[in-house]
Amino acid sequence: MSTLVISDLHVDVLTEEGNKPILKGVNLTVRPGEIHAIMGPNGSGKSTLAYAIAGHPKYEITRGSVTLDGVELTELSVDERARAGLFLAMQYPVEVPGVSVANFLRTAKTALDGVAPKVRTWVKDVEGALGRMQLDKTFSARSVNEGFSGGEKKRHEIAQLELLNPKAAILDETDSGLDIDALKIVSEGVNRYSAQGDRAVVLITHYTRILRYIEPTFVHVFVDGRIVAEGGKELAENLEATGYEQYVKAAANA
Ligand code: ADP
Ligand code: MG
Ligand code: MG
Repeated sequence: MSTLVISDLHVDVLTEEGNKPILKGVNLTVRPGEIHAIMGPNGSGKSTLAYAIAGHPKYEITRGSVTLDGVELTELSVDERARAGLFLAMQYPVEVPGVSVANFLRTAKTALDGVAPKVRTWVKDVEGALGRMQLDKTFSARSVNEGFSGGEKKRHEIAQLELLNPKAAILDETDSGLDIDALKIVSEGVNRYSAQGDRAVVLITHYTRILRYIEPTFVHVFVDGRIVAEGGKELAENLEATGYEQYVKAAANA
């Protein structure tokens, strides 16, 4: 079972000019098997939410809690959060020159499980995961994200998701910069992961496009560091027609 609970989360970003409050009380419960889409305009704090939950040092949690299956994540290091079952696919995946995809994945898997995966089955698993993302076998010898196209970075992240099979996944704009074919491949990977039935998925996006391929259980509208509206997938369809403006105005007047 994998339940992610975010309660009254307040987060500051640490800047050279001092602390800047970004998240202003986020509440969200993701139950096993659910996919929650978080949609909001640029600069509303969606990535801040993802980074704060993952434990990025530039983001300071000033109030509130985040638990995964009852374990308080905010008190754990980044590595401990991953071992607790949390996975973050970043909006801008980082390059790791000199570290091959194969070694990177093996190290991550070993860190999570506490033991190294068996070589023969692991090589097959990696090839399978890359293949499902339509990444060539030779990909595993390349340096992580170095010279990858935007689409390859995102497909590599979803291959990672499938291999590591965490309890909860936060996917930050996994759809950005993807052409229609890559969007389908990535969506199918997320759907396979979610179809296990006991995983928690938070899908951050500002376009409704990906929601044609990944059906969210709930949709949340995120404006100025808070969830300001919630609904089913029809909310995403309404957003497509109306945009965020009404929500931005309402939040400014609140
Ligand atoms: P979104 O992902 O919704 O586009 P972000 O979480 O990236 O929003 O950003 C939210 C706000 O926090 C923006 O105003 C952004 O400029 C600010 N912010 C995020 N990171 C930093 C940083 N490292 N330094 C200064 N401001 C930041
Ligand atoms: Mg943004
Ligand atoms: Mg962002």
